[in-house]
Amino acid sequence: DAQAHAALTNLSPTSSGPPTCFGKEHANATMLMLARNSDLAGAISSVSQIQDRFNRHCNYPWVFLNDEEFNAEFRREMSKLTNGSVSFGLVPREHWVQPDWIDEDLARAGRDRMVAQDIIYAGSVPYRNMCRFNSGFFFHHPLLQQYRYYWRVEPDIEYTCDVPYDPFRFMQDNDKVYGFTISFYEWEPTIPTLWKNVKEFITKHPEHVAPDNAMAYLSDDGGQTYNLCHFWSNFEIADMSFWRAPAYQAFFSFLEHRGGFYYERWGDAPVHSIAAALFASKSQLHFFEDIGYRHSPFQHCPLDSNLYRERRCSCDQGDTLDFRQQSCIPRYKKLFN
Ligand code: GDP
Ligand code: MN
Repeated sequence: DAQAHAALTNLSPTSSGPPTCFGKEHANATMLMLARNSDLAGAISSVSQIQDRFNRHCNYPWVFLNDEEFNAEFRREMSKLTNGSVSFGLVPREHWVQPDWIDEDLARAGRDRMVAQDIIYAGSVPYRNMCRFNSGFFFHHPLLQQYRYYWRVEPDIEYTCDVPYDPFRFMQDNDKVYGFTISFYEWEPTIPTLWKNVKEFITKHPEHVAPDNAMAYLSDDGGQTYNLCHFWSNFEIADMSFWRAPAYQAFFSFLEHRGGFYYERWGDAPVHSIAAALFASKSQLHFFEDIGYRHSPFQHCPLDSNLYRERRCSCDQGDTLDFRQQSCIPRYKKLFN
């Protein structure tokens, strides 16, 4: 009966009090995926891996966002894989589509120029919508307003080691704002004028630049030129209050009005990375070296052999990007030498 049931649930250590994760109270955080209905198979694969490696112990909520309504099948499959709360949101049109003030002739010319250079997604407008949304709008979505930290998960990625602690609490307890696993060079033709605009912004707004910033990660000549290093944003564990704060809001709005998300193909990875490196202090960045993560064609695999065994990793240590020629991890590490 109801009374007995109430008594039983009161005795259960997991059903009363705030939710916990590995013995600590939850951070104010959510798992987050932007996906299309057609991403279903890849979403099942990614979500089940991260649930298995981490979130089955913690039951952090999931938020799924899409520029179209998620269909019943997508909702059903995601709900099956998860234990905590799951919500499905529609991206407001004005956060997604190319704004009216963008000169479409110029934008098309930019796309054509890039297609001729054989650049991935060169001719795609939806890809540009996605990059702009991830740069400037996702953290304004109504479903995310109640949260501070998010863990970005994409379809078709792999988590290759257990995560037996709460990375969100790690971020909170250590005053971190941006966590990553893979870092390498951006394709220059996608961002020909981005750095010029960054320099103009920081000249106009020196008050937003953190005194102890990571400019040395972005530039090898004190800020004159961009070395193209960025954190790969398909993995992100980060603090949305950083994106929502005046520095990033001013930065995004400045970039937005230059139109480079459409006239060029500015990615959310360099935009987030440059902001995190300049407007946060370098000690607020975090390399999740212990998290095995793969997004084709690159992966990060932990090199510490004890950790590899303890965390039941399944990645190829010889294939980790960290110290390859394409990697910016050496520059990142140099910040702290
Ligand atoms: P890549 O990693 O740069 O090759 O780009 P992806 O195709 O993986 O896209 C990045 C993220 O945005 C993934 O989570 C995709 O599911 C999502 N995404 C990309 N394009 C669209 C789109 O047109 N609509 C929606 N809803 N999601 C998209
Ligand atoms: Mn991807």
